[in-house]
Amino acid sequence: MTDSGVLIILSGPSGSGKDTVLNKLTENRDDIKISISMTTRQKRNDEIDGLNYYFVSREYFEKKIADNNMLEYAEYANNLYGTPKAPVDEMLRNGKAVILKIEVQGAEKIRKIYPEVISIFLMPPSVRVLEERLRGRNSEDEETLNHRLVIAREEIRRAPEYDYIVINDTVENAVAGIETIINAERQKTFRNKKIISEVINNV
Ligand code: 5GP
Repeated sequence: MTDSGVLIILSGPSGSGKDTVLNKLTENRDDIKISISMTTRQKRNDEIDGLNYYFVSREYFEKKIADNNMLEYAEYANNLYGTPKAPVDEMLRNGKAVILKIEVQGAEKIRKIYPEVISIFLMPPSVRVLEERLRGRNSEDEETLNHRLVIAREEIRRAPEYDYIVINDTVENAVAGIETIINAERQKTFRNKKIISEVINNV
């Protein structure tokens, strides 16, 4: 990564609380941005097109792939999800910490493109809690919900592929965990080479 920004993957099974945690995390941090994905799934009632996702047809999505506009994409529970490339590149150029809220297959692809990417797995305290949260959300029919629970178990088994595991027992704990990781990453030496000559030249 030659940009001054920091690229971060946040994965976690459906119902692990990624949205709640990220909303809280970005409330007071203008230096942390969330990439807005494109998806072919149906919009839920509480979602806004262009804010939560870009909701598009499969045909439109496939055209974007063919035009090489997607950084990565994956099929998840019978729908396509992907990261539009240009906005991520721009946010990184502007020095932002950019979070990709993506599932495990997408994470695998991004690691190949950006080896320095930081990956975080948001872990629910238990599968029981996960199921309760999914049911409470009331946004899926029984079949979709069960499909998501099957995928969730597979995803949790792949958590060791990530650099960090943050447990979402409370939103506050999860936000603090992710903030700590981002703050430490920003202070890595290879991101701060310029500061050495700046300090020396200003004495
Ligand atoms: P949901 O339908 O619950 O919003 O998302 C389903 C899964 O797709 C979640 O694990 C979410 O993180 C993932 N996802 C959302 N956007 C993207 C994306 O751009 N790329 C990939 N690979 N996964 C995504």
